[in-house]
Amino acid sequence: MNQALVQDVVAEVMKRLETRRGNGGDGVGYQTSYRAGRGGVRAGEDAPANEGKQRDRTGVSFPVNQHGIFDNVDRAVDAATEAQKKLVKLSLDERDQIVKLVKKMAKDNAQSWGKIELDETKIGRLDHKIEKLQILELVPGVEFLKTQADSGSNGLCLHEYAPFGVIGIITPVTHVIPTLSANVVNMLASGNSIVANPHPSGANCAALAVREYNKAISAKFGIDHLITCIVPPSLESADAIFNHRGIPLLVVTGGPAVARAALAAKKRAIVAGPGNPPVVVDETACLKNAAESIVKGAAYDNNLLCIGEKQVFAVESIFDKLMAQMEKAGGFILNKQQIDALTKQAFKPGQDGKLHVDKNFVGKDAAVLAQAAGVRVSPATQLLVGETDANHVFVQEEQMMPFVPFVRVRNVDEAIDLAIESEHGYRHTALIHSRNLDTITKFGRKANVTLFVVNGPSMAGLGLGGQGYLSYSIATPTGEGITTPLTFTRYRRVMMTGSLRMI
Ligand code: NAD
Repeated sequence: MNQALVQDVVAEVMKRLETRRGNGGDGVGYQTSYRAGRGGVRAGEDAPANEGKQRDRTGVSFPVNQHGIFDNVDRAVDAATEAQKKLVKLSLDERDQIVKLVKKMAKDNAQSWGKIELDETKIGRLDHKIEKLQILELVPGVEFLKTQADSGSNGLCLHEYAPFGVIGIITPVTHVIPTLSANVVNMLASGNSIVANPHPSGANCAALAVREYNKAISAKFGIDHLITCIVPPSLESADAIFNHRGIPLLVVTGGPAVARAALAAKKRAIVAGPGNPPVVVDETACLKNAAESIVKGAAYDNNLLCIGEKQVFAVESIFDKLMAQMEKAGGFILNKQQIDALTKQAFKPGQDGKLHVDKNFVGKDAAVLAQAAGVRVSPATQLLVGETDANHVFVQEEQMMPFVPFVRVRNVDEAIDLAIESEHGYRHTALIHSRNLDTITKFGRKANVTLFVVNGPSMAGLGLGGQGYLSYSIATPTGEGITTPLTFTRYRRVMMTGSLRMI
């Protein structure tokens, strides 16, 4: 029997023992094994970064130092460094085959990995967790790495795109395997390897995907550890990645705290930060299409997408008609009392005296939110909506729940101003439903966002029912936009002085 097989068997037995002891909590196949200890803080939880040094490691689902799984950042960086050296020795065709293998595995495993991710994170919807993996083929690969050339009287100049080396990535709980996998496709395509620090609440499914990808890549191409994953991930391991000399580039996908931390890092960071996408609907819009698009986009994975429609500003003259269309499109309208009841449960005052999203409601089904609002809806209801004022906490906070507040405004100029205010300068995503080109242009210019979607659902902006390629990391404060393999390259120039121009 080979050593890897023995370790696999031992790991499986350990996992079953852990489950029987009840450490996993709810008896589902893959449990969240990495938990914060008493008083501990996991990266991604609202607590100062210098707190929570103690951690309780309950159960290990995968053996470490194998197929990319490491409990030590130095060892992960060493392994990823060696793997990257081997990767760049392969031909571009072989790199292309690795990328295609990853895409195929994501698609083939979409059903089971989607379920495992939902069981572990307990947020979002199974149908969309599966779809987010199936559409990974829309993520660009080596075909984006085109060498450019200029030739003239002084010779030939080549513009080439080289890898950075080992990239440190931080990924969110909202799309654990999809973000990791899309980063893998982009980054391996451009010749890099990876050290990943996933969100602790999705660490097991991240480790599962990393392990499976490495096993398959190493079986076919003889390179292990191209993708490494730290278990258990923590603020300390994120910090070690941020400061490691062997990691020249950071790529961080997450909310305000981690975006701030990455922007303050002492090395280059590509930051895919938070959003709060507003929707403007004017009197010229096709209301049926607007309503159907808002339901489709905001209900997607229970509104976990950073590009998802979070609040709507609709002009008075069509407001009631739009609400009627929302109902026809499958939305359930909450009245003021019900919105008040939901707000009390979904937001809690923090130590700063401000209201903060209660994470127990993030990414939950509309029926769960409705219950908190004191109303029973069919489990098939995808989205709740209701009228609020512009200052409502559901409008101003990035709430990631399938309840969308609608604000009634006098005219489209007011809609545009309030929409931009609610986006808080994240420069992430904004949407409009209008047939007036002047209005569309005005909002597009003023909003100055990375992704501007006109007359469609938010996902159309990422290639789902729209043109263009897909990525789950949209670099907003640092400006790289919807990331591609080129985002993760260093520009290099080769100048053949005085020769090689053939014409
Ligand atoms: P989060 O900010 O809680 O966590 C994101 C990642 O950062 C996790 O791995 C977490 O462990 C880590 N982290 C958090 N604070 C940290 C710190 N101080 N130092 C180091 N690491 C830290 O976010 P989430 O709930 O996992 O994901 C949702 C957020 O991510 C939303 O704000 C959403 O808009 C954003 N997001 C943005 C994009 C994009 O492409 N721009 C994509 C997906 C999600």
